[in-house]
Amino acid sequence: MVPEMLLRKSAATVVDRRDFLKVCSLAAAAVGLPSQVAASFAQEAQAGRKPSVIWLHFQECTGCTESLLRASHPDIADVIFDFVSLDYHETLFVAAGHQAEAARRQAMADNAGKYVLVVEGAIPTKDNGIYCMIGGQTAVDMLEETAAQAGAIIAIGSCASWGGIPSSGPNPTGAQGAPQVLAGKTVVTIPGCPPNPYNFLGVVLQYATLGSLPALDDKGRPLFAYGRTIHEHCPRRPHFDAGRFAKKFGDEGHRQGWCLYELGCKGPQTFANCSTQAFCDVPDAWPIGIGHPCFGCTEQDIAFKVPLHATIGIPFTTPGAGHAPISAPAGNVGAIATGVAGLVVGGLVGAGVRAAKKMETETQPEPGSNA
Ligand code: SF4
Ligand code: SF4
Repeated sequence: MVPEMLLRKSAATVVDRRDFLKVCSLAAAAVGLPSQVAASFAQEAQAGRKPSVIWLHFQECTGCTESLLRASHPDIADVIFDFVSLDYHETLFVAAGHQAEAARRQAMADNAGKYVLVVEGAIPTKDNGIYCMIGGQTAVDMLEETAAQAGAIIAIGSCASWGGIPSSGPNPTGAQGAPQVLAGKTVVTIPGCPPNPYNFLGVVLQYATLGSLPALDDKGRPLFAYGRTIHEHCPRRPHFDAGRFAKKFGDEGHRQGWCLYELGCKGPQTFANCSTQAFCDVPDAWPIGIGHPCFGCTEQDIAFKVPLHATIGIPFTTPGAGHAPISAPAGNVGAIATGVAGLVVGGLVGAGVRAAKKMETETQPEPGSNA
């Protein structure tokens, strides 16, 4: 039987097995995975296997964990505790001190080569890494030790992806991201401040069901989420193309929903899917959706470096000629427990439903629209 709780969280009401398979198919399609993934996920869920996840925290605000816990399709907190073996997570862990460190090492030994390592926060490297010590170990040592036998490594958030806020000048601790500290290893980066939880969950779904990672760009970002700029799919784009720009916060153009470029929007240089995937399951819950320019938090060369309201150059105003494929290569179902995929199914289905609703809405003419 498919676990009851997953069914309950995958839809507002309890669903039967056929509906569950439908849900899995929708989830797979949402991130461009082959349809066989749905059946594979259902099989693994029936087997009741739980993947081991080790989640490390370093220099950060815990906003990435908070963002993940706020996703509600399904209630991630419930799913984590019921379907994933979250063997180490300093924010959510009940264990403390030596008991916590022992649990991490035990999980590493029991699941060598298969566990998922998630890194949240930047890693201080200056002065032998003494600025962040956990259980008597520096962050650098703990990361290297845990990464050595991980099946997949995911850096969640801008701090873990390249250093983020802790690395912005003057960077007294020598903060770096996981890919820099683990040079030579494949680290999937999910930048954002915070990142959209569904981008993280999409990666985990693919790894748990296919045993492979999605296609990545040269910064380790999955192309299904970071393959296009904010500007390409921005709802204010028609105003940009027509030359209608808000000049001041609160002016007539701003109130009318015109383009925010002249107020400092970094959307034309920012690769992310915020314009098509709302945060926290709330429609328009992203900066441009509430009237503030994108500040480019997924871009190492923009976020925390270019002043918030400074204008940037526009390198391309139309979609690139040849987008890289975003679908996963076919692969074997990984031995890693597919319970992790339970994290993603409801979320991605929710995303699909919202996208469909949005398309419906967009086909209706807006009263009084001057676009
Ligand atoms: S500049 Fe910003 S607000 Fe304007 S269309 Fe592009 S992404 Fe949207
Ligand atoms: S809209 Fe821009 S600033 Fe906001 S989360 Fe997306 S990339 Fe980051």
